[in-house]
Amino acid sequence: MTDDCYAWLEQSLATIHRADWYREVQSIDGGSGATVILSGREVINFASNDYLGLAGDKRLIKAATTAIQYQGTGSTGSRLLSGHRELHGELESAIASLKKTEDALVFSSGYLANLGAITAVVGKRDLILSDEYNHSSLKNGAILSGAGVIEYPHCDVAILKDKLQEVRKNYRRCLIITDSVFSMDGDLCPLPSLLDIAEEFNCMLLVDEAHATGVLGETGAGCVEYFGCTNRQLIQVGTLSKALGSLGGYVAGSKNLIDFLRNRAPTWIYTTALSPADTAAALSGINIVKKEPTRRRQLWENINYLKDLMSNLPNLQILPSESAIVCFQLESAAEALKIGNYLKESGIFAPAIRPPTVPTSRIRISLMATHQASHIEKLVEVLQDFS
Ligand SMILES: *Cc1c(COP(=O)(O)O)cnc(C)c1O
Repeated sequence: MTDDCYAWLEQSLATIHRADWYREVQSIDGGSGATVILSGREVINFASNDYLGLAGDKRLIKAATTAIQYQGTGSTGSRLLSGHRELHGELESAIASLKKTEDALVFSSGYLANLGAITAVVGKRDLILSDEYNHSSLKNGAILSGAGVIEYPHCDVAILKDKLQEVRKNYRRCLIITDSVFSMDGDLCPLPSLLDIAEEFNCMLLVDEAHATGVLGETGAGCVEYFGCTNRQLIQVGTLSKALGSLGGYVAGSKNLIDFLRNRAPTWIYTTALSPADTAAALSGINIVKKEPTRRRQLWENINYLKDLMSNLPNLQILPSESAIVCFQLESAAEALKIGNYLKESGIFAPAIRPPTVPTSRIRISLMATHQASHIEKLVEVLQDFS
């Protein structure tokens, strides 16, 4: 009976519930910003990736609406057929100029950029080394590529090196993949060491700058700039949907890499081009990142202010962070949910992050340039209740 072959769904859902792993959406009303309306009441928003507060910026909104007026809502085709507009080229030049790379390629999301880049550059005869805390898009890109995959312990360059010493010779090409800012922890990958190891063992290196672009580095170019590695050969991936306030993803790198991806990345070739509105908004976002370093400075003032205040809460198990993401760890998924709800009732929106997204449950706080000092003070005041 057909009924029976779907019965496992209900059992699986019951298991998810029992483990306190069940998730569901919650609606935000109105615009995006430092405060939002959640379930009918205003809360301070520490759950957004809109680090520079650009998703609600008038200039991005204007760029998007103008693009719609002139070019319509849909891009109507893939980039290689009817979907390419000059706007896409302008955005790609702007990304390459921010990243100081020869070229860049825009995808419909950061997730698709990772899948596309990884599956294009390695295959069955190759090897991927992947940090165990990497984002889902890197992990699934690795699986999809058909390459052999070895996960190394988080940021452990000694073990990474041992593995390469042991097995590098058995493979044709080799690719190391890593988040630059780890999305659920907030710490940084040891980029200079990774680059040295990549060079020593003739490996390519792909870094995912999703949470670093617009946030880290003198000009906001990301972790690569922060570590002074701008001129080193590597594959940079990122998103247009976090600090840049829009939607979409990109790969930035050498002319040859980008040219190759245009010919071989299935998630770019066989999908509809980014819409005019998203493209125009992202371009406006990049221009603001370049022209207004004060936003980034304000974000860092907020990060440092929060960390300062939180250092007076000795019972919180704060995870190491060098970004706009600050997490504290909790005993169990149930505890994380309880505290997440308590925060919400107290006017603070900071989500509980649970397995299987992360190995240990935690509350994840993300800061924005548009948070006021009073928002941060209120957060710490509420955190005092259980620290
Ligand atoms: C958010 C995120 C992505 C995916 O980007 P989207 O544009 O949202 O698809 C990829 N990698 C990391 C590390 C992320 O945090």
